Order: sequence, then structure tokens, then C-alpha cells
Amino acid sequence: MKNYLGETTKPVAIGSIIIEISDRKRLELEREKLIGIIDATSDMIATVRFDTQKTEYVNKAGRRLLALADNAPVNHISIADVHPQWALEIVQNQGIPAAIRHGVWVGETAFLNHEGREIPISQVLIAQTFGSNHTQYLSTIARDITEQKKIEATLKESNRRWNSLLDNVQLIVIGLDINGNVDYVNPFFLQITDYTEAEVLEKNWFNNFLPPSKQDLLKNRFEEEIEKNFYPHYQNPILTKSGEERMISWSNTLLRDVQGRAIGTISIGEDITERYKLDRMKGEFISIVSHELRTPLTSMQAGLSLLHDKIIDPNSPEGEVTIEIATEGVDRLVRLVNDILDLERLESGKISLEKSIFNTADLINSAIAQMQDMAILAGIILHSTPASYQIYADPDRLLQLLINLLSNAIKFSPPGANVYLKVEVKSRGAEEQRSGGVEEQRRKFSPNPQSPVPSPQSPIPSSHLLFTVKDQGRGIPSNSLESVFERFHQVNASDSRDKGGTGLGLAICRNIVEQHGGTIWAESVLGVGSTFYFTLPIEEVRNSE
Ligand code: ADP
Repeated sequence: MKNYLGETTKPVAIGSIIIEISDRKRLELEREKLIGIIDATSDMIATVRFDTQKTEYVNKAGRRLLALADNAPVNHISIADVHPQWALEIVQNQGIPAAIRHGVWVGETAFLNHEGREIPISQVLIAQTFGSNHTQYLSTIARDITEQKKIEATLKESNRRWNSLLDNVQLIVIGLDINGNVDYVNPFFLQITDYTEAEVLEKNWFNNFLPPSKQDLLKNRFEEEIEKNFYPHYQNPILTKSGEERMISWSNTLLRDVQGRAIGTISIGEDITERYKLDRMKGEFISIVSHELRTPLTSMQAGLSLLHDKIIDPNSPEGEVTIEIATEGVDRLVRLVNDILDLERLESGKISLEKSIFNTADLINSAIAQMQDMAILAGIILHSTPASYQIYADPDRLLQLLINLLSNAIKFSPPGANVYLKVEVKSRGAEEQRSGGVEEQRRKFSPNPQSPVPSPQSPIPSSHLLFTVKDQGRGIPSNSLESVFERFHQVNASDSRDKGGTGLGLAICRNIVEQHGGTIWAESVLGVGSTFYFTLPIEEVRNSE
């Protein structure tokens, strides 16, 4: 008869001694086989006596991990020797008690190898009792996870970079699933639309965030993108929570799963609302300017060639009229070119304010004096309240601003109308002023106003001056009250031709006021008149009368 080791045994006939020898041999072979397996594994396996905490056995992989020679003695090494302090605390406070309670504990700790290098490990602790009622040995199986930790750290870092990019980039990022529902949105989208993340996620993009007139078109385009794998760039408006439209220029990318099937899109969008508006205005401007430039140029060219070819005698009445027309054309062109250059230089910051201390009464008096001729010609009566304050500002720019406002008031008022200019100190904020109704504004302009001008030499508890130019002209429709301050915006297309304006005056005014840190706005009642206000936040205002 043969046992499973291949030995021939005759247990009944040979008796117990032979059986014992055969068992020992079998056990030795078993042990060798196990040690062979344990040494061949790439994980560390070690056993420690529980009472002394000293090592009893370390396999080859463990010796490699701890940088120990194959034959180096190990029984002087304790648990505390092979762990850095933080890992030892985990092993002693969590690992060993849990292994004693449950037999096994699994966690992530670290070893300190012989050379003092910390090696991150995934560790299994096994408490062994060998049938007794207390732990006799602690065995550990440990795997070097240095590479895994490196990959984790790299992934974490790349995730952190992506998240910080997506969180801080001034571009919209929107992820849509295959049905066009939102599955990712970045903070910038929420910031410009005023939505919360919960209000956007899982909602259908086309039905909820696009103007109704664009929904079908863009839905079709999205379906085409998914079907035909093409990644278009286009621009379309989106809706904010309050219903305002913002124009976005998109770059779309199709997302696929590992099998290459389309699973949705990710789109990056740039908010080009302002640029888009400006482009449109530029387009309008070019058509206005090309007309504005051509008309005077054509008449000047015609007139000058008549004079040059001596077809008209410059000294004849006809010649004088021709010269007058050409001069008017030149004036108009000079105005247009000056305004364009002025605004461009103001907006690009090429003009810096030249501030000095001067008196508001002088400023108002010079503005009135310079506009008097134009007012007389138009039959307008100018009124002013030249209250006197010493202010620190750019007097030339403020004069230009008042002249602009006064010339508009004169241009857009019928003969016989009044125009009022005044300055006062205000203690309330500019925004509060804006909420003052027409009635309140009328009261302010009554012929004998209860003037808030402070008594001479009294300290003025205020931080800004309020200038007001009021007319009794045709008025401005309420939907143009803001846009008249934009470049080239004129309420009537014929204003530039009929009134000789350029549509740039109020844009220049706004720029001057804003450069001084103030605010400008208008109120108006059609057919009754308009009032333009601007504030100057003057830190030190003193009444000098
Ligand atoms: P412009 O050179 O055409 O006057 P502005 O920028 O000064 O350019 O004004 C823009 C437009 O605003 C004007 O063309 C006119 O339509 C309107 N506007 C400005 N001021 C007044 C006013 N006091 N009354 C009525 N309309 C005005």
C-alpha cells in the first residue's frame, strides 16, 4: 500500500514506529513545500511572537522589503523597529486590537526598511491562538504599494488640476448626455446665469436654457453631432435665470465609451455678449459713418472742383454759398473724427485726467458762456445756478462734459424752451438719487428751489456733487434711456444728419464721469423734457462762498 507521498506503508504489519517516522517525514515535506510557496510569493509574510513582539520568521520578499540579507538574523527585530511612528500607532491602536477581536485586520500602513526608507504597504494582520484562549503569534502579510500610491498621487494631482481649471476658468463648461440632459456644469456657468447646480443638473439643456426660437435648431444640430461624429464650433444665445440672453461661442467635443459609441458631448463656451454687441454696433457705425463721411465729402468735392475749374467764381454769391457748404462739411467731418479719436483715447486709457483744484461756479459760467451763441441761435433760454465749491477734478474734461449735455439739451428742444444747469452737494448715494421720481425732479427745478446749498463756510457732510442739466425738449423714450450712452446710439437715425451730432457725445460723457469715479444717467418724459444727472465723488468739498 502506498501513502499519498508515494511511500510504501504496511501499517498493520509494521506497527506504530514506522507510522511515526513516515508522518514526521510527511510533515517536513509539507513544511518545505509551504516555505517554498511562502518564499516564492512577492508579498511579505512575517510572524512575530505576541508576548515579546520579536520577529520569529520573515520570508524572502519580506527580507527584500526590509533590505535584510537572506541569512541576516531577524529575531531581534520588533514590530516597533519596522514601522514609522504614525504607522506603528495605527498597528498598535487599531490593527492588533482588531486582529485579536476578529482574528484578522486589514489596513494601509508603512514599513521602515533597514536603510530608513518609508515604504507604503497594504497590510493584513492575523492573530493566531493555536487553539489556546490567547494570542500567541501575530502574522502579517504586507504588499508594497509604492507604485499604486504614486499612481494615486498622480491621479489626485491631475484631478486637482482639472477641478481647479474647471472651477476657475472664465469659460462655460457643459456636459450633456446622449439625450441632451446636463450631466456636468462648471461654476462659471452658474455664476453668469445665476442658477444653482441643482437647478441645472439632469435638466434638458435645449428646453430649459435656450431661447424658444433656437431650441429646435440646436436640438437638431446636437443630434447630428451625435450621429455623424462631427464637432462643430458655433455661437448661440443662452438664457440666464432672469431670462436675459447671453451670446456664447461654443467648441464641442463628442464623448465616447470604451467601445467607441457616442455617450454625450462636452462643450466649452466663451461669453461673447459684449463683443457681439460691439460688433453689431460697429456694423451699424460703419454704415452710419460711411454715409456721414461720404455726404459732406461728396458735396465738398463737387463744390471745390467747381471753384477749382473756375466754373463758379469764388467771389460771386453762388461761390460764397459753395464755400459755406464745403466749410460746414469740413466742420462736420472734423467733429466726427475728433469724437471718434477722443472716445478711443479715453477708452483705451491713453488720456489721463489732469486734475486740479478749481471752482464749480467758474466751470458753470464758462460752460454757459460757451453755449450762449448756440442757445441764442436756437431761441433757447439758458439758466444756471452757479453754486461755488472748490473741487479737485479735471476742469477741461468737465467743461467738455457740460458742453456736450448743454448742446444736446439745446439741439433737442424747441425754440422758446428753457435749459437749466445746476450743481449741488448731495449727502445721499447716487443710486438713491436715481430712484427720485419725476415729481421730485420737477420740485428740484422749480424757479425758486428750496436749495440744499449749505450755508457759507459750513462743513458739508457729503461726499459728492450732483450736476443736473434739464431741458424742455422732445424727451427720450424710456427704452433708450440707457442706450443713449452707448457709442453711436441715436434715438432717431436722422439725428446725426438733422442735428449735426455723431452719436458719440454721451459715450464720451459717460467715460469722463466714470474716470472721475462718478455715475451718469438720464430721466425723461416724452414731449415734456429730459434731465441728465451726473455725480462726482469728491472727497474734500468745501463751500467757498
Ligand atoms: P449726438 O452727437 O447724436 O447728440 P449723443 O451721444 O450726445 O450723440 O446723444 C445720443 C442720442 O441721444 C442723440 O442722438 C439723441 O437721439 C439722444 N439725446 C441726447 N440728449 C438728448 C436730449 N437732451 N433730448 C432728447 N434726446 C437726446
